[in-house]
Amino acid sequence: MKKAAIIGSGIGGLSSAIRLAAKGYMIDVYEANNSYGGKMRETKKKGFRFDMGPSLLTMPEKIDELFFLSNKNPRDYFKYVKLDEGCRYFYDDKTIIRGFTDIDKFTKELNEKVGVSEKKSRDHINKNTFIFDSTSFLFLEKSLHKIKTYLSFKVFIAFLKLPFLQIFQSMHSANSKRFENKKVVQIFNRFATYNGSNPYKAPAVLNSISALEFNKGAFYPELGMFSIATALYNLAVDLGVRFHFSTLIEKISVKNDVVDGLFVSEKLYKKDIIICNQDIHFVYKNLLPKRFTLKRILEQERSSSALIFYWGIKKKFSNLQLHNILFSNNYEEEFKKLSANQTIYDDPTVYINITSKMSKNDAPNNCENWFVMINTPNDIGQNWEEIIVSARKNIIKKINNVLDVSIEDYIVCEEMLTPKLIETTTQSFRGSLYGSSSNSRGSAFFRHPNFSNQISNLYFCGGSVHPGGGIPLALSSSKIISELIN
Ligand SMILES: Cc1cc2nc3c(=O)[nH]c(=O)nc-3n(C[C@H](O)[C@H](O)[C@H](O)COP(=O)(O)OP(=O)(O)OC[C@H]3O[C@@H](n4cnc5c(N)ncnc54)[C@H](O)[C@@H]3O)c2cc1C
Repeated sequence: MKKAAIIGSGIGGLSSAIRLAAKGYMIDVYEANNSYGGKMRETKKKGFRFDMGPSLLTMPEKIDELFFLSNKNPRDYFKYVKLDEGCRYFYDDKTIIRGFTDIDKFTKELNEKVGVSEKKSRDHINKNTFIFDSTSFLFLEKSLHKIKTYLSFKVFIAFLKLPFLQIFQSMHSANSKRFENKKVVQIFNRFATYNGSNPYKAPAVLNSISALEFNKGAFYPELGMFSIATALYNLAVDLGVRFHFSTLIEKISVKNDVVDGLFVSEKLYKKDIIICNQDIHFVYKNLLPKRFTLKRILEQERSSSALIFYWGIKKKFSNLQLHNILFSNNYEEEFKKLSANQTIYDDPTVYINITSKMSKNDAPNNCENWFVMINTPNDIGQNWEEIIVSARKNIIKKINNVLDVSIEDYIVCEEMLTPKLIETTTQSFRGSLYGSSSNSRGSAFFRHPNFSNQISNLYFCGGSVHPGGGIPLALSSSKIISELIN
């Protein structure tokens, strides 16, 4: 039986473990933390439960697929529902736009709230869906770094569509050409943040991300996001995968440019295959012999990070739903501050996720569990203590203005996640949420491959490599690896 090791039990690591176990490999997963999930974690405090990392589920069929290939029923492990409203958008002038996942309802909502014709918004969503459908089979399902990927008729057709895929303009440019209404542009621009990018720089092909929410749907696992990691962990255990928690891997052994094994507490464990789920930056910096270092990878621009407050709130807000965005009044200035100035804007866009709207046990009676997040630059040594104090004030000011409340009076407990903590708890370089940024065409499409060009039998999965960050993409990376290993 071939032996494979996986370093890290994030979504990419768990799904790779399942795919290889289903192929008959003997799998050991080594995880530095004392539990599975990586960025997908949860915390509990004073009767509140909070998902600490990802909050939005799209493309759940990619999770189900792992159960089907293992001959299991996914519904025995976790259940999810499709959301009617993907997100609710709030503006300073008290306009509220409900981001319905049904295209008819959403285009009607835009027409009623801001006077944009239903045809115009439908055309935009259809265009974004066209981009998604034209690129996803290649971008999400294949390695872009293998010649054979390009030798198919389907790919040839995809290349013919290139002029229509909006590769040569920014997301903002494409969105503002379509809509004069700034509120609507802001809604479509926001999807750049789904992979930690800047809509004023990222190529418009990334507008395809919005097709997920407005066309294919947004979902919620009945027991919260962490239940996805638990379901995958349970499936992996059922398939015989062995987990070694609180085990930091410090070195990969390479002999004659072939993977040989890995060191756990200075003892070498021989392996036929190694899959790194850890941030690719640290793989080159810490795990591999120095002669393999790729300077280009170590110097890549990183995606944005986040500052999150987990607040127990002793009040219920009927005007909020599961996902809520309180938009900055000046989105462009906010992104300038984030990317050029590497700091936080005084009027930040605030995201509030409240899972107790869906999972009643996540908060005590008459209370809500608020996950309050703003985008931040990644950590390049800013004075975070100072930034966090002023960001907290500005977040509260925004919430109070938009929701006509004095939110401080209702906060009964608080926890926080900062760029520095994201790095220390998940070993993501500079606390970036999605590995390298996708702010340019090259960086969006040619992230680090899922295999090593230099070392045989070494593979890479998770949000820092191809195809990118986010749950569906991390899941895709393990599918690509599984096919490469074939
Ligand atoms: C606050 C936040 C919000 C997000 N929101 C969303 C969202 O709404 N929707 C979405 O789809 N995505 C979202 N994401 C992104 C998503 O969480 C990630 O893209 C995805 O979980 C990445 O998984 P991964 O496979 O890259 O592994 P990671 O989660 O990065 O896990 C890597 C694991 O490897 C372990 N490890 C690292 N080095 C070693 C070592 N040397 N030895 C042993 N173990 C090691 C780490 O401890 C960690 O557990 C969000 C992320 C964050 C942080």
